[in-house]
Amino acid sequence: MTRVRWVIGNWKQNLLRGPAEALAKRMVAEIPNQLLEADHRLRIGIAPTFLALDAVSPWTRPSGPLWLCAQDIAAQDQGAFTGEIGPEMLAEAGVKCAIIGHSERRNHYREPDILVGAKLHHALKAGFTCVLCVGEPLDVRNQNRHESYVISQLSNAFHQLENELCSERLIIAYEPVWAIGTGKTATPSQASAMHRTIRAWLLERFGPAGGDRSILYGGSVKPANAATLMAAGDIDGFLVGGASLDASKFLDIVHAAANG
Ligand code: PEP
Repeated sequence: MTRVRWVIGNWKQNLLRGPAEALAKRMVAEIPNQLLEADHRLRIGIAPTFLALDAVSPWTRPSGPLWLCAQDIAAQDQGAFTGEIGPEMLAEAGVKCAIIGHSERRNHYREPDILVGAKLHHALKAGFTCVLCVGEPLDVRNQNRHESYVISQLSNAFHQLENELCSERLIIAYEPVWAIGTGKTATPSQASAMHRTIRAWLLERFGPAGGDRSILYGGSVKPANAATLMAAGDIDGFLVGGASLDASKFLDIVHAAANG
């Protein structure tokens, strides 16, 4: 398999600068060199708060596989947009990758699909690697409407996206909302089935470049379930919340992704 595998730790609104730096430093020290070689098909990312980016930045390697990521990104570079931080500012801070459309942003801050799509479009055009998050809430899963729900999120996000922006810089994270931070993981077959659905949709929308995108799973990934999820097939790594705040758990998950 040639698709790039990713494991990205989303630290959410956790860790002041000191502990954030210490965690990044510990992760770098414990990641085996062979996983950090630039040509390895595994990339590891960490997404601290905006204010901890510069504390963590020296421990990441912009040209190698340990990436500094942002938890969000504005749909414009600058202007009268109170509270926003856009691609130019993030690039200046050494960030090359952004999480977009996380369910916590969609649900707590009512980010609509149209805004998620605008952020994605702008960030891809600015040269960022983007992790677009999609995933259904529990009631939708219980009504067996999860596939159409996720496809609608995808088609709204990719509305008017130029085909050439579908490249290795576009990553999808399937994160069922009912599995995020709940300790309840999708079964490997639920995750794998949704990944196949997403891949088939991308293939139809973008052609072969779409079918070749990395699709990550997120939702209560832990060392205990990571290898089984990888073994289900069509899972190219993980977006990890809670377990990414613990260096040894996160690195166990990295190993599962590398070996799976
Ligand atoms: C996330 O925030 O993207 C996430 C998957 O969180 P957790 O691993 O804690 O469920």
